[in-house]
Amino acid sequence: VAPDVPLRLLQTAERIVPKLIAVASGKGGVGKSTLSANLAVAMRRAGRAAGLVDADIYGPSQTRLLGLEGVKPEAEGKKMYPTPGAGGVPFLSMGQLAAPGQPIAWRGPMAGQALSQLVDAHWGDVREIVVDMPPGTGDIQLSMIQKHKPVGAVIVSTPQDLALMDATRAIGFFNQAQVPIIGLVENMAGYICPHCGEVSDPFGRGGAEAAAAELGIPFLGRIPLDISVRLASDAGEPPALGDGPVAGAFADIAKRVGN
Ligand code: ADP
Repeated sequence: VAPDVPLRLLQTAERIVPKLIAVASGKGGVGKSTLSANLAVAMRRAGRAAGLVDADIYGPSQTRLLGLEGVKPEAEGKKMYPTPGAGGVPFLSMGQLAAPGQPIAWRGPMAGQALSQLVDAHWGDVREIVVDMPPGTGDIQLSMIQKHKPVGAVIVSTPQDLALMDATRAIGFFNQAQVPIIGLVENMAGYICPHCGEVSDPFGRGGAEAAAAELGIPFLGRIPLDISVRLASDAGEPPALGDGPVAGAFADIAKRVGN
């Protein structure tokens, strides 16, 4: 480097690549998108420069979860600018690349290109990107690992055995690819009846914590099965923005997901 180039210019020319944190599950419907959105919100509440990529090509839901349905991201040619959603989380979603309500039926290479467009966007001062992965272990997951190299993966499961078996498969997939497992989150644990207050466990209890211990990976915490989580999520108001126990649970998980 020429000695007369000012240091300041060198620093701005150097692109800082944000760390990617993959949020994955063995199957759909266990709360992976809900956790991804709320994890990003909780990180920002804690003062971290977090953003979110919705890579769930089969069911992109972050535009709804972050309250920005129908908003197209700004772009400069093919390079997009993340849209600020609920809680100030800048995000980009597979859903923004397709016509609203249209099925996304892309073959591997096209899906891989779409993923790269989301990840290699103008992320500005964002330092950590939570990536809502598609469920299971397919093409997009492979592209994510090989091309974009996440620093680690958070695995979500409900407490019942079948979901845990799928989660174990997802863990094996990341292990094989040498992506460190940050830990396991148990979602939909313990249902509090809104009428009588009785706590029941429709999907069992403690299964994920036991499985994490058995697999030798950290247990990051549990989120209760709570109708307010679904109602707030559907309304585009992430429960992590609230001040009840659920917001606290997301904040604790965010802390354990490192800094
Ligand atoms: P996935 O991304 O794994 O497919 P979602 O995050 O979309 O799962 O969650 C599936 C459904 O379950 C959504 O309607 C969501 O609002 C709801 N849900 C997720 N977690 C909870 C929870 N802890 N309590 C109540 N409903 C939840």
